[in-house]
Amino acid sequence: SMASPTLLMRVVASAYSVAEKAATIVRNVMATGDLGIVEKSGANDLQTKADRLVQKSICASLARKFPKVTIIGEEELPPDEVDEELIEDGHCEEILKKTCPAQYTGIKEEELVIWVDPLDGTKEYTEGLLDHVTVLIGIAYGGKAIAGVINQPYYNYEAGANAALGRTIWGVLGLGAFGFQLTEAPAGKHIIVTTRSHSSALVNDCISAMNPDSVIRVGGAGNKIIQLIEGKASAYVYASPGCKKWDTCAPEAILHAVGGKITDIHGNSFQYNKEVKHMNSAGVLATLRNYDYYASRIPSTVKQSLVP
Ligand code: AMP
Ligand code: MG
Ligand code: MG
Repeated sequence: SMASPTLLMRVVASAYSVAEKAATIVRNVMATGDLGIVEKSGANDLQTKADRLVQKSICASLARKFPKVTIIGEEELPPDEVDEELIEDGHCEEILKKTCPAQYTGIKEEELVIWVDPLDGTKEYTEGLLDHVTVLIGIAYGGKAIAGVINQPYYNYEAGANAALGRTIWGVLGLGAFGFQLTEAPAGKHIIVTTRSHSSALVNDCISAMNPDSVIRVGGAGNKIIQLIEGKASAYVYASPGCKKWDTCAPEAILHAVGGKITDIHGNSFQYNKEVKHMNSAGVLATLRNYDYYASRIPSTVKQSLVP
């Protein structure tokens, strides 16, 4: 008979359903027209009612099923009781049917850290650039991003009423990534994807040094990793602090599951143990292929400006 699913696969299967519930909340808040915008560190660092409700939903739903797992969410919220309507207790059966990679079969709850970005691309959400938005649930073990779920609540929103709205991409290191069509970027072209709302001279200097054929400026770390795995861009380059561990954990797991690479601008890998500093102070460099070309092009002046 089939072995019962491992903890890791049960967490991923639950995170899938929790992310779909999150997407419904993101769409419902937008539909009410009342976003309840709060500025955090400034006008380019926002929180909406959707960020708050989704974080409560994800964290409370996963904590109820997996009480010993460490869950770290982006938003600082008062420790209120969570409305039962926000709890999702379902899971994705299809994920439970997959075989857990052997190196992860013995993982215990207290060894997992889940990094939650309830709504990545909030600035763009408030501006109606809805397909930039993602919900990110990243799963780390031994300090490494090993699994992740990215939900895109408004995938297909410009494709008309007959197209299914939203999608969920998920992956596990050693198993692969699912929910999209892996596509290579055009060969020989340097298409850079970068921030839309957090640019700086340093960010632009670094991109210029890569001899880009084109530059795509869009919101969200999740969205930019999707551009890499779907062949829309050849490198995600962000030579600035600002991106945090909850922005990169789920995207990293999915990118690595399909053979890509993500590091800071110096080439250091990110750590995701619960004690780690949240800020990715030395920026982000990610590719599906040809990482070395982009890494080799980063100016030393840019490197000197970004201390890990
Ligand atoms: P972006 O590419 O600008 O959409 O940034 C990707 C993620 O990192 C988003 O969650 C942003 O909110 C976050 N981020 C990047 N830079 C900054 C910054 N300077 N201040 C606040 N958040 C930032
Ligand atoms: Mg984010
Ligand atoms: Mg966020």
